[in-house]
Amino acid sequence: MTTPCIICVAITGSLPTKANNPAVPISVSEQVESTHEAFEAGATIVHAHVRNDDETPSSDPDKFAALKEGIERHCPGMIVQFSTGGRSGAGKTRGGMLPLRPDMASLSIGSNNFPNRVYENPPDLVDWLASEMLAHDVKPEIEAFDLSHILKARDMADKGQLKGTPYIQFVMGVKNAMPVDRDVFEYYIRTVHRLFGADAPWCAAGIGANQKLLNEWAIAAGGHARTGLEDNVRLDRDTLAPSNAALVRRAVEICDRNNRRVATWQEARRILGLSVPDDARKGQAA
Ligand SMILES: [Zn+2]
Repeated sequence: MTTPCIICVAITGSLPTKANNPAVPISVSEQVESTHEAFEAGATIVHAHVRNDDETPSSDPDKFAALKEGIERHCPGMIVQFSTGGRSGAGKTRGGMLPLRPDMASLSIGSNNFPNRVYENPPDLVDWLASEMLAHDVKPEIEAFDLSHILKARDMADKGQLKGTPYIQFVMGVKNAMPVDRDVFEYYIRTVHRLFGADAPWCAAGIGANQKLLNEWAIAAGGHARTGLEDNVRLDRDTLAPSNAALVRRAVEICDRNNRRVATWQEARRILGLSVPDDARKGQAA
């Protein structure tokens, strides 16, 4: 029996705008609606950034709070994951939403190049973000833009800096960072298994046209999958994705082809070691 596949939808990100694809949700109400459609399509984690009205990235905890409330109301049980990476260089404001106690938050634990800048994750900031996540009972998703980031996660876990077994996401295809490389991908998987155990869950994200390829690789290899407009705004070269849900449906089809069942939110929470929120438990009983 294979492990059901957790589908994460990265709804907005910090870069794509409505000029790139009008379906990119910007306002909190658009984000809640887009998340709800994606949840109904099979996504069980929402990875979220928030934006200002002019579409520039924001770290405003009030926006994160409104988003969390809307998702919890409309998508009971869905795992809410906030990004702490969206505003490189912004220092501790990147973690200003952690006291809201989302289920998870992304944690980039090392630096690397991005297309036009350095993605700065200095050690003192990484330690501080991890300590805030621990203090507020937030499970990190480790963003591995490089092999060293997986090794660093083992080091931080050994020091008691992370809640539970780290959930590692391989990010491939960001220009100037790790390209999409099958040998590296397989070595990443072996490294996760060696460092965290054969049952340790992992996930993969591909950027742009590589989103579909990384979904296929991860789902076939027993990992979990991330999709969504943050990473890719197209279904193919000529077609804009009409919604986040359309990209989720594409990942579900890949699961079907690979005989992987799509995880329910209960299964996703169990796989990741997350508790069931009270509101969702009430919904289950009803
Ligand atoms: Zn993100």
